[in-house]
Amino acid sequence: MHGQGASTIPYAVSFTLMSKKINVFWFRRDLRLEDNTGLQAALSDGLPVLPLFIFDKNILDDLQDKDDARVSFLHQRIHQLDKQLSSEAGGMQVYYGEPLAIWETLCAEREIAGVYTNRDYEPYGKKRDQALEEFLQKRGIGFYTFKDQVIFEKSEITTDDGNFYKVFTPYKNKWMKKFEAAMPQIASKWPSGSQWVSSEEAPSIPTLADMGFEASSIPIPDAEVDAALIRSYDKTRNFPAQRGTTRLGIHLRFGTLSIRELALRAHGLNETYLTELIWREFYQMILHHNPQVVDKAFKPQYDAIPWRADEEGFEAWCQGNTGYPIVDAGMRELNATGYMHNRVRMIVASFLTKHLLIDWRWGEAYFARKLLDFELASNNGGWQWAAGTGTDAQPYFRVFNPESQTEKFDKDLKYIKKWVPEYGTVKYPKPMVDHKFARQRAIDTYKEALAKE
Ligand code: FAD
Repeated sequence: MHGQGASTIPYAVSFTLMSKKINVFWFRRDLRLEDNTGLQAALSDGLPVLPLFIFDKNILDDLQDKDDARVSFLHQRIHQLDKQLSSEAGGMQVYYGEPLAIWETLCAEREIAGVYTNRDYEPYGKKRDQALEEFLQKRGIGFYTFKDQVIFEKSEITTDDGNFYKVFTPYKNKWMKKFEAAMPQIASKWPSGSQWVSSEEAPSIPTLADMGFEASSIPIPDAEVDAALIRSYDKTRNFPAQRGTTRLGIHLRFGTLSIRELALRAHGLNETYLTELIWREFYQMILHHNPQVVDKAFKPQYDAIPWRADEEGFEAWCQGNTGYPIVDAGMRELNATGYMHNRVRMIVASFLTKHLLIDWRWGEAYFARKLLDFELASNNGGWQWAAGTGTDAQPYFRVFNPESQTEKFDKDLKYIKKWVPEYGTVKYPKPMVDHKFARQRAIDTYKEALAKE
């Protein structure tokens, strides 16, 4: 690697003999010390490493709920990392503010040789990192980024003529082949280092209240990888009343679990499970190549659909009062726990976009507000799939029937009764729209809009 560290002098001595130059490792979606690509690279470079986290005001200001469970989780995790690092480094340097302004302060205060971080693929993150790179370049400071949150990124998996895949199955096949070939390297242990900056003057971690938030009461599932659950995943994953999926989404989102560790363990245990991890990468790849999907249909002709601006209907959907018990159970589970089972996500998304003909972007934004595992690429991909507007999407003329979905996946009504206890009594509302009518209206509306193009 670059830098001044190729010395045989013990690190503690080398700091005092050489300069006070440091490297900074900026934690973002990779909140762990183990198997963290960018962190290991920073630690291998030879200069002492300053561990940094920024509570990004630009992101936090956009959150609607003051008791957002993800902010509480993030905050707890930063405290844990700070504690883990307290014996070696003086703890984490944690700031709250606009990243570029914080970097200006840091660069004025410290002699920074290089900034290390793991790559972000979301449009906001890419823009922020580009601005930082330009800023650092002007000061002669290196900016080194690494792949960490996915196995394969950007254009690592392409068609034979170098284009990005629009269809999942061939992408998956190529991914799998490349993964199997790369497994020995992926599995290799990263060298560990311990040359941290001992920052006696580390600022204290801002409290939730300092940032305008309060603690959430929603519990966070732990990051344990349950091999037995993964082994039977293909048989259990479709039944929302069972604990048949791993609930690791939030840990992949914040990097409190390494995707390499998870994918390597899943390989050989259950191919269906590994396939779900590949969906996650497929959507990240789609977002990277098509940043316009954030607010537009992947298939542009679908932007001609005249969505109904039905605010009352949308509110009934959000609150779980549609009169369709499987839809209501899902929305109530989401509101109470920040989680919704994948099968039910598909049902409620189909109901909103097809039965109610409400813009998928409204549903997407509501999920973004509530889901613990919210992740822009997968959420956008899931919504565009359900609305029929995305890559490899559900064709528009296939409209989920909530009743037959219930018969297949919640036959004993266990899930429904858990979340909609008044189901079957007079207190439960009548269906807000007739299924047959709504299905036909959706098909006709889509057909007409697409014919215009
Ligand atoms: P498991 O079933 O145990 O799967 C393990 C991991 O694989 C998940 O944690 C996730 O990282 C990945 N995964 C599983 N299914 C998918 C999928 N279909 N697409 C992409 N990745 C997948 N997933 C998110 O991570 N964030 C979202 O914001 C999100 N929004 C969605 C919105 C809609 C409308 C739909 C239909 C799906 C969405 N998904 C999203 C995908 C999927 O529903 C969740 O990943 C899954 O339900 C999370 O539960 P789990 O952790 O128990 O997953």
